[in-house]
Amino acid sequence: MANKPLGIVVLGAAGRMGKTICNLASAEPGFELAGAVDRSDALAGLESLDVPVSHKLEAILNGRRDVVAIDFTSPQATLENLAAATEYDCPVVIGTTGFSEAQKRELEQYAEKIPCLWSANMSIGVNVLMRLLPGLASALGPAYDIEMSEIHHRHKKDAPSGTALMLGEALAKSRGWDLAETRISCRDGLIGARPEKQIGIQAIRGGDVVGIHTVYFLGPGETIELRHQAESRENFGQGALRAAKWLSGQKPGRLYSMQDVIADALSG
Ligand code: NAD
Repeated sequence: MANKPLGIVVLGAAGRMGKTICNLASAEPGFELAGAVDRSDALAGLESLDVPVSHKLEAILNGRRDVVAIDFTSPQATLENLAAATEYDCPVVIGTTGFSEAQKRELEQYAEKIPCLWSANMSIGVNVLMRLLPGLASALGPAYDIEMSEIHHRHKKDAPSGTALMLGEALAKSRGWDLAETRISCRDGLIGARPEKQIGIQAIRGGDVVGIHTVYFLGPGETIELRHQAESRENFGQGALRAAKWLSGQKPGRLYSMQDVIADALSG
C-alpha cells in the first residue's frame, strides 16, 4: 500500500514563505496541504485554497491530529503557535527568525514537550555549507581572517540575517570564540588595525533579493570566497517540507535543526 501523504498546516500562510509552502505542499507527492493559518485580516487571500483556513491553529488541529505544522511568521506569533501545538501534540518546523535569547530558550522549552525543529535557514545548500565551514576554518588556521556579507530584499525586518548569525556561530565555535563577543557589523572612521579575534558581518538591503550569503577567508596572499545565492524561496520551502517529513518520525527532547536532517541523510 502506498504511504499516506503527510498533512502540513502552514502558519503564516498569507506571507511570502507561507504562500510558497502552501503551493509546494499541494503539488509535491508525499505531502497534503491540511490547513492554512494567518492573522484574521490576512485570511481573505487564502480562500482559494481548498483546505480549512483559520486565524487560530487550534481550529485546524481540532479536526486533524496527524499533521506537522510549518511556521514562518514572527517570533511572538511562533511562540503563540507553539503553545497551541503543545495542546495537540503537533510537531512544528520553525523557519521564523529574529528570536531574542530569551525567546530561544522558550523554543527549547517547547521542544521538550513536542517535536520542534528550528533553523534560521531551511535551504539544504546553506546547511551543507554550514557543515563545511568549521573544517575549512580549522584547516586554514588563525592567519585567515573571517568576514561575511549578506544581502536581502528591502522588506527584511532583522539584521544581520538569521542565516549569517547561524554561519557566524559555526565559524566562531570552530575557533573557540563567542560570536556575540567577536562579531562586528559596522566599521566607520579611524578604526585602527583589525583585531585577529573578530568576525565581520555586513548587511546590505535592497530590491527583491531572496538571500545572498558570502563567507570570506582572507589570508596572507590569498582569499577564499564561498557564496550561497537563493534564486527563489522554493529552496527554503523544499527544505521545510523535508524537515517536516523528518520531524514526523522524531520524539520531543531537544530543539532539532536542519543539521540533524543533514546528519541523518549522511549516515543513511
Ligand atoms: P511575511 O511578512 O511575508 O509573512 C509573515 C506572515 O505571518 C504574514 O502573512 C503575517 O500575516 C503572518 N503572521 C504574523 N503574525 C501572525 C499571527 N499571530 N498568526 C498567524 N499569522 C501571523 O514574511 P516572510 O518573508 O514569509 O518571512 C517570515 C519569517 O520567516 C521571517 O522571520 C523571515 O526572516 C523568516 N524566513 C526564514 C527562512 C528560513 O529558511 N528559515 C527563509 C525565509 C524567511
